[in-house]
Amino acid sequence: QRSTQEYQAIDASHHIHAFIDQKALNAEKPRVITKGYGAYVEDSDGNRYLDGMSGLWCTNIGYGRKDLVAAAAKQMEDLSYYNMFFHTTHPAVIELSNRLFDFLPKRYSHVVYTNSGSEANELLIRTVRRYWDVVGKPSKKILIGRWNGYHGSTVGSASLGGFKFMHEMGDLPIANIAHIGEPYWYAHGGAATPEAFGLTSAQELEATILALGAENVGAFVAEPFQGAGGMIFPPASYWPEIQRICRKYNVLLCADEVIGGFGRTGEWFSHQHFGFEPDTLTIAKGLTSGYVPMGGLVLSRHMADTLVENGGVFAHGLTYSGHPVAAAVALANINALDQEGIVERVKNDTGPYLQKLLHETFSMHPLIGEIQGQGFVAAIQFAQNKATRTLFENETEVTWRCRTLGFEEGVIVRSTAGRIIMAPTLVMTRDQIDELVEKTHRAVNRTAQELGL
Ligand code: PLP
Repeated sequence: QRSTQEYQAIDASHHIHAFIDQKALNAEKPRVITKGYGAYVEDSDGNRYLDGMSGLWCTNIGYGRKDLVAAAAKQMEDLSYYNMFFHTTHPAVIELSNRLFDFLPKRYSHVVYTNSGSEANELLIRTVRRYWDVVGKPSKKILIGRWNGYHGSTVGSASLGGFKFMHEMGDLPIANIAHIGEPYWYAHGGAATPEAFGLTSAQELEATILALGAENVGAFVAEPFQGAGGMIFPPASYWPEIQRICRKYNVLLCADEVIGGFGRTGEWFSHQHFGFEPDTLTIAKGLTSGYVPMGGLVLSRHMADTLVENGGVFAHGLTYSGHPVAAAVALANINALDQEGIVERVKNDTGPYLQKLLHETFSMHPLIGEIQGQGFVAAIQFAQNKATRTLFENETEVTWRCRTLGFEEGVIVRSTAGRIIMAPTLVMTRDQIDELVEKTHRAVNRTAQELGL
């Protein structure tokens, strides 16, 4: 084992880190995370952190599960690799899908596996366009995403996403991608009520479809709640209106469930919480609880039947689609999430407990203007002036600082522009939730002190 300094020196020599100004890493050296167990991780100096972010919102079942390790080891022994290219398939992927569709609403019938959420959204772009070709409407090539939506880092998925700073890297977006605004009432709602703003936000989709021509628009793609964009929960009026508009103009409704899937909100898939019915679902992260990489694109029976009956060759394949080891781990993971009642507990017990505690702790806090969340996902919104909903001009720095103070307090939360967000492992107990909120509270108080509030 190396010293922390040695690890950091080698890391700095060879790695370009994601979404960080590389020079900032010299000022704040990266923590070297060496161990994980349950809801905690440890660094190379022996510091323990309560992981309020499930890694990157993926370790839904927590760290160090021996049953998942055993499933991987057994599968490696039995059949370490095979593919679905040569008129071949294998039991691991068959058993996974057989079980996965127990948890999916009945309108879905098929899945194409990938290794990540980005690849699954990349596949979504191709599949949507293919679908409209097959049904004889080849002009419906445009996919509409949202500003500040996140769908991945590959060329297509980053185009679909709405982070402008990502578009600046590599000349994005690709052709035939458009964006509408995000349903972020606190920042953009002005004097409107949340419900009225939800409708106006959704109606921007209608205006955009009409401006582009409905005959040219194939799909609307969005996260049911916007994750990396700040854990933004749209007003209740938003999703029914979006669905109405998509149906009216014959536009596919595609939900990115990469964060929201596998129990995050207390439902198996977060669109179920919002009550709309997408045509496709993108999944990853919680599918394997991050133990090994795996993602997928889930298709409605109607879309799948159309592609299978009339689509001819499906010209898409990844060496590791449905990888046996990933499939075996995913199966063990979803079985445990179900059989141990973990998702149900988030829905009926620990999720409501977390949300209540966040409201009790932060609703009167001078720095916090809004608390949003459901189940085991939450955001606290920083405001310079709560009465007028005025945001900090340097909000990204303010919440980044709070996140760093969180590390010092022994808790990992994430900062986005103006918000501290959390997505704890679904196995967190009430005591650990107390610890999560208490440590986050201390970090928020220290931030307020530093700001002189
Ligand atoms: N979609 C959403 C909503 C995500 O949050 C992410 C990653 O955070 C992705 C897609 C991309 O997934 P991956 O990082 O596995 O490529």
